[in-house]
Amino acid sequence: MGKRVLVKFSGEALASENGYGIDTSILKFIASEIKSLVENEIEVGLVVGGGNIIRGVSAAKEGIIKRSSGDYMGMLATVINAVALQEALEYNGIKVRVQSAIKMEEICEPFIVRRAIRHLEKGRVVIFAAGTGNPFFTTDTAATLRAIEIGAQMIIKATKVDGVYDKDPNKFADAKKLDRLTYEDAMNDNIRVMDDTAIALAKDNSLPIVVCNMFEKGNLLNIINGDFSKASIVTNS
Ligand code: UDP
Repeated sequence: MGKRVLVKFSGEALASENGYGIDTSILKFIASEIKSLVENEIEVGLVVGGGNIIRGVSAAKEGIIKRSSGDYMGMLATVINAVALQEALEYNGIKVRVQSAIKMEEICEPFIVRRAIRHLEKGRVVIFAAGTGNPFFTTDTAATLRAIEIGAQMIIKATKVDGVYDKDPNKFADAKKLDRLTYEDAMNDNIRVMDDTAIALAKDNSLPIVVCNMFEKGNLLNIINGDFSKASIVTNS
């Protein structure tokens, strides 16, 4: 079997400096990075968050919007991002399908794992939208779940930092980058690579989690080819 990966982008990653909305120049950059994977015959599943538009917890903060409704709003936000990403990939000549965990057949396909795998085998990128389809989960958990379902070799969390640090590198000058971590390390409160649900799911299924800087050109391809120098990896050992 060829290489298959799941790449997760946060919603915020799509936004410009102010953290809100969708910046087409970032979409363009992501599309070119994904294109280099496809050209190297890597099968790519994508999950994108929705934090640049709305997050359930924030929407429910004042107690007017219920948390579960806020979460559905957040899931809808991921669909908006997925459609944007689909357009950017297609503009770059990449074959792509969006599958949503919440049915909205005028916009995209419903999530059907066997169909997703067929798309991947045909060289199409599949963007998994609407998270898990359930409130009280995150898109990190959705990404981990989809990675396992499609049999991806790893999940790559594409972030704005070049890996995992022992403390917040924006706050502490002496923060150290951790190249390799165990799932237990990753669950540590100071580190929290992903939420505990996502990490537990990855651990149970021995799915390696790689955290990297998405803005480092060529990094995704390097990582898939085994060069983790500009990333952190979470595995069993
Ligand atoms: N969400 C959800 N269930 C899921 C995935 C996402 O309810 O399976 C909601 C949740 O409210 C979350 C929002 O969608 O805050 C956006 O996702 P997330 O915060 O994970 O996006 P990111 O931080 O990656 O941009």
